[in-house]
Amino acid sequence: MSTMARGAVLRAFNEPLTLEAAPVPEPEPGALVASVDLGGVCGTDVHLFHGNLPIPTPVILGHEAVGRVEKLGPGVTADFNGEPLREGDAIAWASNIPCGRCYWCVVEKERTLCENRKVYGINQRFDEGPRLSGGWAEFIYLQPGSAVFKLPAGISPEQAIALGCAGPTAVHGVLEIVGIGVGETVVVQGSGPVGLAAAMYAQLAGAARTIIVGGPASRLDLARSIGVGDVHIDIFATPDPEERRRQVLAATPRGRGADVVLECAGVPSAVPEGFELVRRNGRYLVLGQYTDRGATPINPHVITRKQLKVYGSWAFAEAHYARYVDTLPQLAARFDLGRLVTRYPLEEANRALADMASGSVMKAVLAP
Ligand SMILES: [Zn+2]
Ligand SMILES: [Zn+2]
Repeated sequence: MSTMARGAVLRAFNEPLTLEAAPVPEPEPGALVASVDLGGVCGTDVHLFHGNLPIPTPVILGHEAVGRVEKLGPGVTADFNGEPLREGDAIAWASNIPCGRCYWCVVEKERTLCENRKVYGINQRFDEGPRLSGGWAEFIYLQPGSAVFKLPAGISPEQAIALGCAGPTAVHGVLEIVGIGVGETVVVQGSGPVGLAAAMYAQLAGAARTIIVGGPASRLDLARSIGVGDVHIDIFATPDPEERRRQVLAATPRGRGADVVLECAGVPSAVPEGFELVRRNGRYLVLGQYTDRGATPINPHVITRKQLKVYGSWAFAEAHYARYVDTLPQLAARFDLGRLVTRYPLEEANRALADMASGSVMKAVLAP
């Protein structure tokens, strides 16, 4: 194992990331060191870079990554599922470690709401502890308590990283919180990684028709070309929300609206627009509002009159990541996941971040 490893470090918000080296630690009992094959760049990273969320600096960014076991710490013999783990195995890991002791973890049993979560690439400092605690680095130190998974046979690192954190996020929101029934009509607002992951899981779960309302056209074309979504409505080609509503309703059974609408746009005004796309007694999930982009006027009468079920879903925990890994073979068999990915060397982390910010690529991935 090399003794030093480089990572892309955020020292100050809105300042270019710098490549810096730190020693690769010997793993303590329960921990392991992984070499990183690919580290995903997420929309959240763009917000972190701009200082939109309160995180400590300096920090190696990268909460999405896949890699290989470099060195197992004492006592580590198996992955989260009990599969034997050996050096060289291809692995992925959940980005967060809930504390397992707080009210939210124990009483509510909602580990996504844990207030003491450690999150790789977000709240683990570069200037203390094991230092190599982000995915945009040659090596990462996976602390005791990390949920580590061997990749299923036949799944490449590129396929495993293609959806990034949007994959397990969609498992939580779409499969667990709102649930999709066989034959349902689903509208997905948004065509970024969260939107595409949500649409893929709706399709896997048996939706009869999945309607994606998003843009720009290049993203919808990519979705269409790999079989994600059945109907694609471009918000730039159809800027009038009233016209969009007519098109969506026309694509639903008897024009009555979708059974389920999944908000994955991250734009506050998508929510009142989405309420108009759900049928009476339907379900609406707010999945995309990960940063606070302000308020939006909502007419609560619509919720009462339609008897809407409105849900929220925050990120994911180990259980959702486990289900994500288990469903990767199904996703990969049905959708060409690799087409979503654009690779960059670690040295070009700033360009990858800029390209994600501008939306010019669907999924930027660093290859350290
Ligand atoms: Zn993310
Ligand atoms: Zn907790």
